[in-house]
Amino acid sequence: MGSIMSTNHKYAYYVEKKALELTDRPQKFLRAFAAVLHHSNYGLAMDVYTRLSAKCSRCAASCQLYQSTEKTQDIPCQRSELLFRIYRRYFTKSWILRVRLSNGFELTDEYLDEMADAFYRCTACRRCKYTCPIGVDHGLVTHLARWLLSEIDVIPKALLAATREQLEGVGNTSAIPVPALKDTCEFLEEEFRDIFHVSTVKFPMDVQGAEYVFFLAVSDYLLEPDTLMGNAAVMHVTGGSWTIGTGNYDGINYGLFYSDRMMERIVNNVVAEVRRLRGKKIPVGECGHATRSAWFVPTFCGPDAPEVVNCMEYAHAQLLAGNIPLRKEKIKGRVTYHDPCNITRTGRLTEEPREILEVICEEYVDMYPNRAQNYCCGGGGGTVSIDEIRSFR
Ligand code: SF4
Ligand code: SF4
Repeated sequence: MGSIMSTNHKYAYYVEKKALELTDRPQKFLRAFAAVLHHSNYGLAMDVYTRLSAKCSRCAASCQLYQSTEKTQDIPCQRSELLFRIYRRYFTKSWILRVRLSNGFELTDEYLDEMADAFYRCTACRRCKYTCPIGVDHGLVTHLARWLLSEIDVIPKALLAATREQLEGVGNTSAIPVPALKDTCEFLEEEFRDIFHVSTVKFPMDVQGAEYVFFLAVSDYLLEPDTLMGNAAVMHVTGGSWTIGTGNYDGINYGLFYSDRMMERIVNNVVAEVRRLRGKKIPVGECGHATRSAWFVPTFCGPDAPEVVNCMEYAHAQLLAGNIPLRKEKIKGRVTYHDPCNITRTGRLTEEPREILEVICEEYVDMYPNRAQNYCCGGGGGTVSIDEIRSFR
């Protein structure tokens, strides 16, 4: 098995000990696969993808991973075939018959190990989907394969530990307790005073009935205070009715990277906090994966669930309405924008950030390729959070 980087561990990423001790993994994997097919609509995609393939390798030509490594294991259709083979063998009638006659493929531990490596090389960015003549979504296949692997406990420990902290621990992925959250926000209010000489910008907490209940990637409170201050400033000048809920203030959702089951629980918790505060909308920070996972709110919580708004959408609408006063001097130098796969791949949010930058920068230029065809930076599929494979990224 070609590993992402050399470690003394079984996989390129750390997993919990129980993942290495589990017995009867193929049977458990197959039971999980059967349950997912029964309770979801993945079966439809599997049926289509496993019956049709032009075997044209266009997906390889458009995958930045394969372009970089040129390894056969990184050819998208070859990796997805690892899962398709299991589906055909165990979940379609014609294949079961053929296997009986030919004594063919059986799922083994070694095969699962190969999958564990392969499906964490793909970043699930979905760039290749656009070039496939039959629309095979290898990002979706990667997501399903990771979910099934997680059901036999093969999950990068970094993702698992963060999700566990969010769902069963302090309540957020960075384990930031409420007093530290409040302390950080008070400090940023002081920064507004000291740097910008504005004393009226506040980070309102637990305001009942506020229109917007803000969800940022919680690591922003530790690492990216500028983005927090930017959001607070926009809310302040536009007179937005907003708050941060102390019951849940984390927009991160690593379920998007490895498990629909986890993603649904995290989305439900976000909506529960908005309802506790009787809020109406869920503004999400600039984080791509946080935004895309929040877009699943209506899927998991129904059409009456609060509306999701990315902060760039909010700022753009307010800018167009003339509610954001800008300085005369613009940001100097050439500026570009890297489209985040999770936000842009479907073409849902592409022009708003550009139009904001064109207004506030002296020279805005698009990088190439851009918008739905952008190159993936590797972060959105979880790679950025798994330290052991950062060099691979
Ligand atoms: S989803 Fe992205 S990384 Fe994965 S195979 Fe397609 S283009 Fe490559
Ligand atoms: S582009 Fe689509 S049809 Fe062509 S090899 Fe890849 S998955 Fe198959």
